Formats: sequence, structure tokens, C-alpha cells
Amino acid sequence: MRSIVFRGSKIAVALVLFLSVLPLSTAQNTDCNIRVTLLQVNDVYEFTPVDQGTRGGIGRVLTLRKSIQKENPNTLFLLAGDTISPSVESITYKGSQMIEAWNLAGLDYATFGNHEFDFGPDVLKERIKESKFGWIAANVIEKSTGKIFAGAESFVIREFSGVKIGIFGLVLPETKITSRPGPDVEFLNPCDTAKTVVPQIHERGAKVVVALTHLSMREDKEVARCANVDLIMGGHEHTLLESSAGGAPIFKMTADARELGQIDLNISKTTGELASIDWKVIPVTSQTTEDSVFSSIYRKYAHLLAELDRPVGQTSLALDGRSAENRTQETNLGDFVADSFRKATASDVALVNGGSIRVDEIIPAGRLKMRDVLSILPFKNKLVKIEVTGALLRETLEHGVSLVAKNAQPGGFPQVSGIQFSYDASKAPGARVVDVKVNGQPLSPIRKYSLTTTTFVAFDGGDGYAMLKGARVLTAPEQAPLDSEALRKAIAQPRPIAPKVEDRIRRIDKTQQTRSECQ
Ligand SMILES: [Zn+2]
Repeated sequence: MRSIVFRGSKIAVALVLFLSVLPLSTAQNTDCNIRVTLLQVNDVYEFTPVDQGTRGGIGRVLTLRKSIQKENPNTLFLLAGDTISPSVESITYKGSQMIEAWNLAGLDYATFGNHEFDFGPDVLKERIKESKFGWIAANVIEKSTGKIFAGAESFVIREFSGVKIGIFGLVLPETKITSRPGPDVEFLNPCDTAKTVVPQIHERGAKVVVALTHLSMREDKEVARCANVDLIMGGHEHTLLESSAGGAPIFKMTADARELGQIDLNISKTTGELASIDWKVIPVTSQTTEDSVFSSIYRKYAHLLAELDRPVGQTSLALDGRSAENRTQETNLGDFVADSFRKATASDVALVNGGSIRVDEIIPAGRLKMRDVLSILPFKNKLVKIEVTGALLRETLEHGVSLVAKNAQPGGFPQVSGIQFSYDASKAPGARVVDVKVNGQPLSPIRKYSLTTTTFVAFDGGDGYAMLKGARVLTAPEQAPLDSEALRKAIAQPRPIAPKVEDRIRRIDKTQQTRSECQ
């Protein structure tokens, strides 16, 4: 257990850190102090356990919450943002499965994370209506009404045995551009908002102020310095962080409820002020059983969960699904996905836009499940085989690398199969492709080739591939598999797959280019 003791003013904070994990029954609930326990999770995208079942699981968190609450009825359970997106489940249920889980788990309050707006403001409003817990966000405003978004609270005041604490919420302003909150939602400056809200909380008689935030650590520290907050419970980084600024400790758990943060506020009964804080990080592991209440949600989603859990095959090499890599250079997963498209349709060449590969992590070597396949290609795009001339294929590749070297990560970057090409990004867009080979032979501008890609690229001109519109269709989408189905089949081999980066795409202008490191 670790502690901070406040002696007099917060300027004279004495930091006392204990690394031992003492039972919390030793925490003070003395004659002069009231102990209020705050339980923290943040960035929880799946209600089931993660890491092959070894960590997380909201059903386990519920078990822990109940036992902690039994010991101290003055307990609140808080979520510091990011839950309704992204996940494979949310492709179907748009986060309603997470709200159900939080309702069952007895969550008290949540603030919004940036990902709460991924499905747009109307879907989030639906999720808020389904919630049996409160949403608090002081800096998320509807421009048209000037009020907090969707009837959420700016702050809440809770009273325990005569002492009051105030909790207010703050959300990343960059959500405006990184997610889809729509034109009517505005994110005010967190520091300015805190300066306004904290005095309002004090006016309501609470001397202890907790900020429940979904901000970057830099912004959390700014808030801690610019307003009189006693504690910040945050999220967003997916890293276990224990920090402090302006006399206020700042805590963040990693993600997916791998840990439950337990923070005890020892509040003076006589003054109502914070006397000290004790905290510990409780690993959520398979040693904790899931509360039986949770079986209802497993029953409801049994079909989907069984489907996602279905073993597909094995990989003996890690698969590089990171977005930045797939959007800027050849990766072993990009090669493998493109190969799966080509194989499924028996075409000369195949292309997948890097932006379609969504998993955004390195999938470790080992067993692959359907959840992995759908995490890689979640959109269920249809494949189509079209006929292109060599000249058109070259134009297509030129487009694919046209935005490279702008430090951008365009989704259109091509991952290819049956093609080997080099390009020079120091040249003007449209004149960068230096050399192209198709299945070992130099590209002939007049020869016709069959190309398989998704309908998103070929028909919709997705990621700017408008040049492919109108090409002759050789295999219609109705006759071709879905992208994820082609990938599943390619993985489902008797022997583990072992995709390597095969030097299909060579950038010749940039020496500092880094190759995928996870072979
Ligand atoms: Zn976030």
C-alpha cells in the first residue's frame, strides 16, 4: 500500500511511499477520519478477460468491488473514460454490451473518453440512456444549448458519514478531431474548466475534490497545477502511471481492467478536509472468480463470444498489425493479407490499402482466433477481381505512394501481392514509382492483369483509388469471399503460418526508413 499524508496545506505535502501490499484493513477509519474508497478502471473495451483469460474481466472486477465494499460501504466505483469503442463486439453492438456490463458491475460514475464519440453523438446519447450510472464531464458542451453534452453532469457531490467529496469530469479536447462528436459538441480547455468548477464544488460544501479525467498526462498535470484538486483519476495512455503535480496524485491503470485501482481518501470528520491518501493497484487475474451475476451477460452474448473464440490457426511469427507501419511501409501482415486476397480469387496481383488493417498492435506468435481475424479486418469488405492494364496498375501504385514523405500516414498506402516495386518519395507525387515487376516479370504497360482488392478500393474509390472505378469486373463481389473470410482461410493451414517481409516494396530515397522489426 502506498500513502500520501497531507499535513496542513498541500504545499507541505509529505510523500510517504510504501511498496508493500498491506491489507487495507490497516487503513485509517479512525475516530477523527472517515475513509472513502474510490475504485478505478479506465480504457476498458472488453467485458471478458483478456490476455488469454489471464487478466481483466469485468465479472472479476465485480467480485473485487463487492468484497471491498463489504469492508467499507463508503465506496465508489469509477471509470475514467473509453469503453464503447473500439472492439470487435462493438462492430455489432456499438458499445451497448459494455454498458450492460457496467450496469451489472455497479459502476457509479464514468467520464467520456475520446472513443465514446466514435459512433457519433447520437449513439453515445443512446448508450447514456441505457446507463444505470452517472456520466460526468464538465468540459463537453453542446453549442446549441450551452449545456453539458446529453444531460451529463459537470460534477457530483457525494456525502459519506457527514463528509462531502466532489467529483468532476474532464475529456481530451483533441476528441473534436480524433473522433466523431459532430459539429454541435465542443470541448473546453480542461484547465479553464477546472478553475471554474472547483469553486462551485467548494460552494456546495465539499472540501475534497476529485477529477475523473480522460486526458494526456501533460494535461492532467496542468489541471493539477492550475486548480485546487486533491486527486486525479485518469486514463488514455494504457500505461500504469502513478504521478503527482501541484500536490495532487495522478493515477492511471493500463487498460481492459487488467488492474483495479483502490484509492482510500482519509477525510477529517471535524474539518471535512483530506488528511491522507492510501492506494494500491490490485492486479485482476484468474485467481479472482467472476461474479455469478455476470453469467447473464455471457448467456446473452454466448453466440458472438463462441464465434470470436473459435481457433483459426497458428502463426510461428508475430504479425505486425500496427497502423503506422501498415500505412507507411511493407509489413509481414500486409503481405499476408494481400496474399490471402490473391489466393482466394486466383488473380495475378492483389492490393489492400494499409488503412484497412485495423488491429493496431503486434499480434504475438501463437494461436490465432476468429477475434484476431476480425480485429485485423473488421469491416467485412467484399473482394472483387478486376482487369487492369499495366499502365493502370502503375498509376494505382503511384497513387498508393503519393502521400508518403509528408509525415502523413495515409490509409491508402498499398500492401501488395504478386508485385514488387520500388519508389522514390523525393520525386513529385505521380512520378515516384521507379520499377515494377509482376510475378518476377517487368510490368508491361499494355498487358492486362487481374487485380483483387476490396470493393471499398475498386468501386468506391476509397482512400483516393478513383482510377480503378469502371474497370472490367472478372469476379463479382457476390462470387468472391469477404476480406476477413479470405484471411481466415489463409491462416487455417495444417502448419503454422510464418509470414516474413518479402522486400516487395522498396523505398529508395530514405535511408532512415525502418523495416518492420517483428519477424
Ligand atoms: Zn483514450
